[in-house]
Amino acid sequence: MDSCLFCKIIAGEVPSTKIYENEQVYAFLDINPVNLGHTLVVPKKHSENIYDISEDGTSALIHAGKKIASALKKELGADGVNLIMNNERAAGQIIFHAHLHVVPRLAADGFHHWKGKGFSKEEIEKAGDKIRPHLN
Ligand code: 5GP
Ligand code: ZN
Repeated sequence: MDSCLFCKIIAGEVPSTKIYENEQVYAFLDINPVNLGHTLVVPKKHSENIYDISEDGTSALIHAGKKIASALKKELGADGVNLIMNNERAAGQIIFHAHLHVVPRLAADGFHHWKGKGFSKEEIEKAGDKIRPHLN
């Protein structure tokens, strides 16, 4: 896609610090890393987010994420790794070319996960009843 920043990065028209690539994905370091080694893995075929990546593309993304997570642990001494994908603006997506963040974590890096809002058991069950029929 002509106007897409990550498509330009994949094409080499915008510079990036590449760390891995195969037929389906391209992986490079985030320009504003949360911790050193923070990597973005993107499908080479443009898709906006999780809803429009092919099954194959999704597998390739996760597979590369796993590979990179192991490298971050082994080579950068990460104590843990988060794999995060922001889909749509409400979820924090800023760049609309699908990407998986692979974020090395250190025990004392001070970042916290979001907290549960204390929904009732009934509300949780109701949500499950709504989702389930669409997955069969
Ligand atoms: P999002 O919020 O869409 O999941 O995350 C987009 C990520 O892309 C951000 O972490 C941001 O720092 C990163 N990013 C934005 N522009 C560039 C760029 O030009 N080069 C690189 N390497 N990363 C970028
Ligand atoms: Zn793109």
